[in-house]
Amino acid sequence: MKEIFIAGEWRMGRGEPSKSFFPADMSLNAEFSTASLEDVAEAIEVADRAWRDSSWRDLLPTERAKVLFRFADILERDREALAQLQMRDNGKPLYETRGLVASAIATTRYVASTLETMDNELTNQRMHDAITLSLYEPLGVIAAITPWNSPIASEVQKLVPALAGGNAVILKPAEATSLIALELAKRLEEAGLPKGILSVLPGRGSVVGNAIVNHPLVKKISFTGGTNTGRALAHIAAERLITTSLELGGKSPTIVLDDANIELAVNGVIYGIFSSVGQACIAGSRLFVHRSLYNVFLAKLIEKTAALRVGHPEDPATQVGPVISEQHLANIDRYVQQAVAEGGKIEIGGKRLLAGELAKGSYYAPTIITGLSNRDSVCQEEIFGPVLVVLPFEDEASLIAEANDSIYGLSAGIWTENYRRAWQLARRLEAGTIWINTYKKFSISTPFGGYKESGIGREKGRLGILSYMQQKSIFLSLDDTPNPWCD
Ligand code: ADP
Repeated sequence: MKEIFIAGEWRMGRGEPSKSFFPADMSLNAEFSTASLEDVAEAIEVADRAWRDSSWRDLLPTERAKVLFRFADILERDREALAQLQMRDNGKPLYETRGLVASAIATTRYVASTLETMDNELTNQRMHDAITLSLYEPLGVIAAITPWNSPIASEVQKLVPALAGGNAVILKPAEATSLIALELAKRLEEAGLPKGILSVLPGRGSVVGNAIVNHPLVKKISFTGGTNTGRALAHIAAERLITTSLELGGKSPTIVLDDANIELAVNGVIYGIFSSVGQACIAGSRLFVHRSLYNVFLAKLIEKTAALRVGHPEDPATQVGPVISEQHLANIDRYVQQAVAEGGKIEIGGKRLLAGELAKGSYYAPTIITGLSNRDSVCQEEIFGPVLVVLPFEDEASLIAEANDSIYGLSAGIWTENYRRAWQLARRLEAGTIWINTYKKFSISTPFGGYKESGIGREKGRLGILSYMQQKSIFLSLDDTPNPWCD
């Protein structure tokens, strides 16, 4: 059984042991221990002490950056092994997990470079007898809680900026995918992160996660996961008066206007929904197609979806792998059955795939459904699977109203050859990220986060580190004049 990383030590956690399975054939990847409530308390107390003892927070930014650059080099050295492990842990095809590892490496280098070049401020001078400064200081112990869909990318995206800001971190990975977080800890240790500054505490969200966010020494919750969990965490943070950054669910609209380049749009729509088997908060799961193109577009969409290569994640030809678990597959299928009950027509897919080797894993067919309205539950609720609903539209005013008729606002896609129309539409859509004539592109330099119930706060960008810091103003007197009352 695998040890976990508690308070700077590799040892068995005192919680119930847990297991990681390969979704392609349900074989066992590893058994690992999880944290108990005592482990949580110990890790947080040690993290707070390690943070206060100045071995990390008082390093010069360039010295902290050096550790992070070393970490990036170590990730690069081990990139293939990490991509393989990530593939086994959550079943994503190797081409995708290689991309996730590359993104983690680039994120680390970008954040380390940003840290090297970050300035504090000498604020505008408003008096002759004092200098005024604004400094950024760390918050203390950060709780980083991550989901199972892209662990290495989402974990590094939280860990590295939080550490760059001089904080300590308690990382709680998702139950199904805890292995990468432990590997990241090993490599941060090797890179020279001081002991106790990081703990990785696998375990159940409702137990271990809940204990972490309620601990009085935790000063910020950085969470990626479901909207309901995010809302519960926001309540706790409000009660405790600590800050949160919440990256939550989505039900993103993709819009194909009447002047779109059809070939490009069909490819983009398919990639936007079926890559990662739709297990992405940004999946383009609601497709609005202008009525004049609808039949032609739908026919091409079905034809290209039928040609997608569903298969074993290790096969370089595979585009669509298994979903994370049997339980998740059952949830996806339940939504599809609900769509049919609401009057939807399954144009393709709509079932589990059981042919040959696929029978060993949790494979669900890429699915396209028509005949529904945007108000139907499969258009309103996040499925987190390979299910696309196609809806025709006629005029732009009703299109905008329907696209925005969602509790979510994470992302949206627009396909048109007219950039003026795209710009106007982009400004009217209520979403944190808009892709025009592309989809699912990411950049660490560009902030990411949600409107509405898709989240609070932004990750990435030059301001990413500052979201793990607080400002301190300093007034430095330049003369000996006493304050009033004393003279
Ligand atoms: P998903 O549906 O993507 O699994 P969840 O919101 O359930 O999203 O889980 C995301 C992360 O949040 C996981 O690491 C999970 O263990 C954790 N989590 C779930 N419930 C809680 C909770 N009550 N308190 C803290 N963390 C939680």
